[in-house]
Amino acid sequence: MEYEAVIGLEVHAQLLTKSKIFCGCSTAFGAPPNTQTCPVCQGMPGSLPVLNEKALEYAVKMALATNCRVAAESVFARKNYFYPDLPKGYQISQYELPLAEHGHLDIRVNGAVRRIGITRIHLEEDAGKLIHHEARPVSLVDLNRTGVPLIEIVSEPDIRTPEEASQYLKAIRDILVYLEICDGNMEEGSLRCDANVSLRPLGTAGLGTKTELKNMNSFRFVKLALEYEIRRQRALLAAGREIIQETRLWDASQNQTISMRGKEEAHDYRYFPDPDLVPIKIDPAWLEGLRRSLPELPEAKWRRFQEQYGLPEYDAEVLTSDKDLADYFERTVQEFPHPKQVSNWIMVELLRELKKTAAGIASCRVTPKALARLLALVDQGAISGKIAKSVFEQMVATGRNPETIIREQGLAQISDEDALIQLAQEILAANPKEVADYKAGKTKVLGFFVGQLMKKTKGQANPQLANEVFKKLLA
Ligand code: ADP
Ligand code: ZN
Ligand code: MG
Repeated sequence: MEYEAVIGLEVHAQLLTKSKIFCGCSTAFGAPPNTQTCPVCQGMPGSLPVLNEKALEYAVKMALATNCRVAAESVFARKNYFYPDLPKGYQISQYELPLAEHGHLDIRVNGAVRRIGITRIHLEEDAGKLIHHEARPVSLVDLNRTGVPLIEIVSEPDIRTPEEASQYLKAIRDILVYLEICDGNMEEGSLRCDANVSLRPLGTAGLGTKTELKNMNSFRFVKLALEYEIRRQRALLAAGREIIQETRLWDASQNQTISMRGKEEAHDYRYFPDPDLVPIKIDPAWLEGLRRSLPELPEAKWRRFQEQYGLPEYDAEVLTSDKDLADYFERTVQEFPHPKQVSNWIMVELLRELKKTAAGIASCRVTPKALARLLALVDQGAISGKIAKSVFEQMVATGRNPETIIREQGLAQISDEDALIQLAQEILAANPKEVADYKAGKTKVLGFFVGQLMKKTKGQANPQLANEVFKKLLA
């Protein structure tokens, strides 16, 4: 029997608000434990939560960017469970009436477009952090993260392969980063993903029993965990055994998923509407204002880069994968209007230099204007492409102007015909045999002469001019 995988993702994104979702405490990362807490986020009886409007705004932006319908009215609910990182004994989340529903996102996998449905997006608060002591049987609780705003983005089970899952997650991350509402960092946990996966006979429409995978803190791990889990389920089914509905943890050291808890141990959260918070009512004018304020999103930018600049899909993909890089490209093209040349230079030379230092484009010492001038110098024949690469490396390292580097190191291409004629004459005088060969019809030796001239000028002779000069002298 042939099976196909059915995958749905639940993605949590930490919102980049300055203060927490229901109190005024700072969300800044790295403060000493429990210094950013108050009675509300400590869960003190009698304290009352008040919604942070910025958190709502960010969540609505994401809902709009993913084509969701934003509910005119939505409600916060208490999700009840006990854990030491949750001082109230419940997490404030949304359940029956979420902020937004019925969205979708188009992703590209191997050249084809796939539409992935988004079931819902809701707001909730983060829990605290437990720090387990290594030597002693002691755990410490840090409540600085308690109450940091999160959105949960739940997909429909529309994803079919681990590759699609990874592309979908990247698309979500890119939109969050473009909207400037989440830093998108999976390693640090500001973006987290649970993956639900089941198998079904190919060509059928029902849903098989799923397992839920947790603890994958990189795009690669999401893909590896799903690949492993699909193999595991396929082997069970092939052996005539049943899939058990359970939550499984990705173990990166063993490259496998391991059972964490079964259906019987699943929590019953006893959700109910939170009586401490009023329903969220969305003002249609406010919503429209947010819709109009949305920046150009990755997909639209990718299309525009192909249409406006005539770039191949691949170039557009690389350049728009990072908003700052896309801006850098456009600013350079404004000064030097040859998009493909700029794109080539950014994708090969610039990205290689950035990789060396693992720095982002934002901290790059070469301004778009300086890069544009360097490319113009190559275009005008003032320096060769080869020399431009070494000039560029120095620009990245020192932040200096291309003109200064070229002048100080005497790198300018020799396009002065008289200077080249003199050098060429010396070369011809030193190689009488080759001259005789040329005159006897072996015109291929012209390459030898030009090579000699290049050697003499350390690559700085204008190659085209060098060719002409020799032809003239040998005529
Ligand atoms: P639960 O009640 O276990 O939380 P939900 O119905 O809320 O399950 O779905 C959670 C996620 O799992 C969603 O992203 C959904 O698309 C996905 N999902 C639901 N059923 C399946 C299934 N049989 N196989 C794969 N994914 C599924
Ligand atoms: Zn607080
Ligand atoms: Mg659910």
